[in-house]
Amino acid sequence: MKQIIKLHDKFFKPYIGADKLKQAVKRLVDEVYNDLGEDEEPIFIGILNGSFMFAADFVREYPANCEVSFVKLASYEGLNSKGKVNELVGLSEDLTGKTVVILEDIIDTGNTLAKIYDIFEHLPVKQLKLVTLFFKPDVFKKSLHIDYIGISIPDKFIVGYGLDYDGFGRNLKDIYQLKDSKMKNIVLFGPPGAGKGTQASLLKDYYNLIHISTGEIFRCNIREKTELGILAKSYMDKGDLVPDKVTIEMLEKQVDKDLDVAGFIFDGFPRTKSQAEALDVFLAKKGEQIDGMVALEVEEDELVKRLLERGKTSGRPDDQNETKIRNRFNEYKTKTEILKEYYDKQGKYYGVVGLGNIDEITRRLKKVIDQL
Ligand code: AMP
Repeated sequence: MKQIIKLHDKFFKPYIGADKLKQAVKRLVDEVYNDLGEDEEPIFIGILNGSFMFAADFVREYPANCEVSFVKLASYEGLNSKGKVNELVGLSEDLTGKTVVILEDIIDTGNTLAKIYDIFEHLPVKQLKLVTLFFKPDVFKKSLHIDYIGISIPDKFIVGYGLDYDGFGRNLKDIYQLKDSKMKNIVLFGPPGAGKGTQASLLKDYYNLIHISTGEIFRCNIREKTELGILAKSYMDKGDLVPDKVTIEMLEKQVDKDLDVAGFIFDGFPRTKSQAEALDVFLAKKGEQIDGMVALEVEEDELVKRLLERGKTSGRPDDQNETKIRNRFNEYKTKTEILKEYYDKQGKYYGVVGLGNIDEITRRLKKVIDQL
């Protein structure tokens, strides 16, 4: 599965896959070949370092005789394109009378392109063509001609397939995009029956977050009779917690499905200290963290009443019998409640009174979440 990656201090998310790159390269080759014709023997000149992978794939696809060379024109040093472009190095071929096709990895402001034109236009070539794999139309400031464009992209920093961030990332087969937005990640906490599910579905719409309820995912798996569902059922029916390893793996898979979102509301996860620790490690790998644990505080006796009431309509076996319900509270008290302390130590615990009508409680929760 494709992941968020870290290069130096920055995080990048998967953006354009190798398959799509291959298609774009193939299309560019076809366009160039159709224009030049089978009798033309062009010299392809890749602009180093960024174009080495693109140029290699491009010329491998090219169906007619051709020459290949590389020159160097450094322009990026950090995340921003600099106005100044260095001198050209490495051109040893005599290009007189030749069809020259420049292969660029990316054109953004057009500063590098201007320098290329400056140099090549004064050479006695037969014709000069320019191919770029990526193009950023929003920042291109020049009125220079580009003959062939592979993929137009927004003005966001990318790495991979030859392109780097301060030297790293060139070896990646796919293109990754700088992940710039900070997510809002909330653990909605509270004992069984506190109203986490109800509140989470209201909050997710309001804040545009993804709601992940581990209980709901397990129930869905039970309905679909998956291997995971069959395993989880044996624990859930008794009101026991499903083993950490299983739950953590499932949660991580679920989060990885949605890499580019405003954030998550975790409902029913974490439920043990090792789940909380695993979540911290997992999010840190993506440059993310839990911003707050927001807990609905409700008395146990009130909750038992609520759950027995819910059991009449929910169809959940673990809601229908007081012994099972009491066991869920026991699990909560012995394994889950300590998480208050876990998040409190990090200054992330926020208790909210969970008694009252739904709107009232939502308002209280929003007041806390707005500040996170
Ligand atoms: P819930 O819908 O959150 O009340 O969860 C229902 C049941 O699913 C729990 O009683 C557990 O058996 C199981 N479950 C849900 N989330 C977790 C978790 N994070 N860790 C272990 N078991 C869980």
